Amino acid sequence: MEDKSDIGLIGLAIMGANLALNMERNGYQVSVYNHTPERTRKFMEKEGRNKNFVDTYTPQQFVDSLERPRKIFLMIKAGEPVDLMIDILYPLLDYGDLIVDGGNSYYKDTKRRCDFLKNKGRLFIGCGVSGGAEGALWGPSMMPGGMIEGWPLVKNIFQKISAKAPDGSPCCQWIGPDGAGHFVKMVHNGIEYGDMQLIAESYFLLKKLFGYNNSQMSRIFKEWNEGKLSSYLIEITSSILEFKELNNEYLIDSILDTAGQKGTGRWSVESAMEMGVPLSVIATAQFERDLSAHKDERVDLSYTYPRQIEAIKGNEAHVNDLMNALYASKLISYAQGFSLLRKASQDNNWNLDYGAIASIWRAGCIIRSVFLDRIKDAYHYNPELKNLLEDLFFINEIKASMASWKNIVATAIKHEMPVSAHSSALNYFYGITSESLPTNLIQAQRDYFGSHMFERTDSPRGQFFHVDWNTTKQ
Ligand code: NDP
Repeated sequence: MEDKSDIGLIGLAIMGANLALNMERNGYQVSVYNHTPERTRKFMEKEGRNKNFVDTYTPQQFVDSLERPRKIFLMIKAGEPVDLMIDILYPLLDYGDLIVDGGNSYYKDTKRRCDFLKNKGRLFIGCGVSGGAEGALWGPSMMPGGMIEGWPLVKNIFQKISAKAPDGSPCCQWIGPDGAGHFVKMVHNGIEYGDMQLIAESYFLLKKLFGYNNSQMSRIFKEWNEGKLSSYLIEITSSILEFKELNNEYLIDSILDTAGQKGTGRWSVESAMEMGVPLSVIATAQFERDLSAHKDERVDLSYTYPRQIEAIKGNEAHVNDLMNALYASKLISYAQGFSLLRKASQDNNWNLDYGAIASIWRAGCIIRSVFLDRIKDAYHYNPELKNLLEDLFFINEIKASMASWKNIVATAIKHEMPVSAHSSALNYFYGITSESLPTNLIQAQRDYFGSHMFERTDSPRGQFFHVDWNTTKQ
């Protein structure tokens, strides 16, 4: 009889198949199951051939093939399929067996599933996995959260298959209770949206405002990737810009400018709104994707409001300004993302370790970058930072970028180029560093039409006042 498997994996689409291969390559015997058996057969005939997999075709056969306590990794479509699969699995499992959901599940669903399975005597972990198909195969960044009793069962496997940061540490650490792992993955994806929008705006300025061609832009991004902006997304942007099809034409020029999305960016923005955290760069990135999807409307309006962008002949100083502006805007986006993590941690008693989170994003995931080391350091020096903008590194970098940042946003606006994420970042900076804002007028208006009351600058906080705005002034 076959030995029992170390772990079982359900869902053999691209992510699940690659994770299974990663686990097997790292020395584990893996049972595999997919609800449509054809996928399992194909996997065993191709990628899984002659490897240490146990193919199974019914949930019972799958569960019976696993070493106890059983460890089951779900890598299936997020949403209802996860609930359906849990409903099938838990009656077949024993007390103390573990189900891990590695898909992009909504964190509130993960909390609900934790509560449900806890009542059934089963363990549950919601584990964010980032890095796309390549990451899944060669080492993803992993963000497990949920019932901590389950963590010792999978810690070694997960840390072995995960990416390793430049200092050798695994990009997988325990994040926190209930939905914490999936929340952190969601914010990771939100930050990814922000980075991508900022890079896309920079590309468009290089192209339309400064007149660089694809090959020149590819070189510029390559140079940026060797400095403070060094990151996976900058690296792939350089490769994308130099990619030619068989007809020797650049592919980028033939790709339709309407962005798709799978929902995690929107969830980040919705969560930020629920918690009252200004996540303006990521929200802008989300809305810019939405705006891009209105292609026909954009085309029609472009005839109603025609404009000719007056290009400036780009030079080294422009490129340097743009690099600094992109960098400063990125600092703001990360500061906002970590403020959202902080608020969620406080509201849910998750006790998140922000330095550890920055640390596990340093390799394997889509937002991996040199700069995450600086965030790790910032929380190492002061775990209580209210905002990353209080950290000395951030202070120095923002101050050093200020002139370039203002210059780029002002020049772009003057030349009628959309730079929503860059200007949103700059406006957040002006707002969050303003001792006074015009919101006194908003409070007055609210009291005027709705008796909503206001606090006064000459009275202690927490004392509220209302006036009858229609009485004649003395
Ligand atoms: P999909 O999100 O397209 O999910 C497909 C898998 O789910 C297939 O194995 C499919 O089986 C299975 N499935 C669908 N419905 C059910 C059901 N009712 N019961 C059981 N299984 C079902 O595939 P991906 O590999 O792209 O992603 C898997 C998970 O990982 C998702 O949650 C995704 O959001 C997440 N993720 C994806 C990343 C990516 O880059 N693609 C990156 C990080 C996370 P079948 O095809 O046989 O119906």
